[in-house]
Amino acid sequence: MTVDLSIVVPVLNEQESVACFVDAVTPIVESLGLRYEIIFIDDGSTDATADIVCGLQRNDPHIRLIRLSRNFGKEAALTAGLDFSTGAAVVPMDVDLQDPPSLLCEMVARWREGYDIAFGQRVERRSDTGTKRVTAGLFYRVFNSISGHPIDANAGDFRLMSRAAVDATLVLRERNRFMKGLFAWVGFRSIAVPYERPARVAGTTKFNYWKLWNFALDGITSFSTAPLKIWTYVGGSVALIALIYTAVIVAQTLIFGRDVPGYASLMVVILVLGAVQLMSLGIIGEYLGRMYMETKQRPIYLVKDTAGFPPSQDRADGQFVPRDAVRAAE
Ligand code: UDP
Ligand code: MG
Repeated sequence: MTVDLSIVVPVLNEQESVACFVDAVTPIVESLGLRYEIIFIDDGSTDATADIVCGLQRNDPHIRLIRLSRNFGKEAALTAGLDFSTGAAVVPMDVDLQDPPSLLCEMVARWREGYDIAFGQRVERRSDTGTKRVTAGLFYRVFNSISGHPIDANAGDFRLMSRAAVDATLVLRERNRFMKGLFAWVGFRSIAVPYERPARVAGTTKFNYWKLWNFALDGITSFSTAPLKIWTYVGGSVALIALIYTAVIVAQTLIFGRDVPGYASLMVVILVLGAVQLMSLGIIGEYLGRMYMETKQRPIYLVKDTAGFPPSQDRADGQFVPRDAVRAAE
């Protein structure tokens, strides 16, 4: 049994928002006349989120729950949801209603017109703080200038994807998952659906600046090797400058005699070159670390248990089942 529309919702400690979300989404998808499922992925919540979803699931056969064995991060949780989804179209949504459910109507309309991807595009970022707007703007500028697959600075994970686009995305099993980049990478016919992003309905954001910084590093290292290659040119330029400077010093010594070299200039050269070398090593480390994680081939997430899935789909059986292993066994 498959459905027309799967709504995939990663949740981490969202006990205040889950019921509001279901109440807001249900009338809209019902009005569209589609067979649908709402898949919650509990990303290791420590509050009552999973219990609340289970409670809702008992009264509403459209609701399904996947519980991960711990917090794997939003990208992994989203991947789990996409893996378990059966819809002919899939829409990942945040539970805090920052992705307005009313937009689903237009997304579905675009899909029926033949688009594979209808992505929500924020027309303004008024609900974000000034710092977040500036840092996000900077990130997209850097990302788009060095990655071959530009992403819309105002698009998030909120988008409708056809089954073809979802399956294409799921082929990419990398461990460092930057979903927005993966969605862009697969291509397909896509169209923007503009909207104003409201503030969170309840609870607090699950992302601090340290998490966002690492998310940005994941994004850039996943889609560009420019930071690795730049050092050839930095090194080349420094070598050229050094050569010119050497010529100047030799000429000075020959013409004006021996000069006592300055402490200040020496220190500056040592410190600057030291810093440049450490930075380049650090960047190599960022890539090497990620390569190390990739080579271990650990599963992207582990499922603890599931609820609400039809028996044929409920493959977890309350065990710690890595979804990749399940796929391989099929
Ligand atoms: N989330 C998650 N795992 C995490 C962090 C966040 O599943 O490790 C979920 C969270 O519950 C929410 C969505 O991802 O449904 C978006 O998070 P949030 O609203 O905190 O992000 P923001 O809108 O502030 O960027
Ligand atoms: Mg949010």
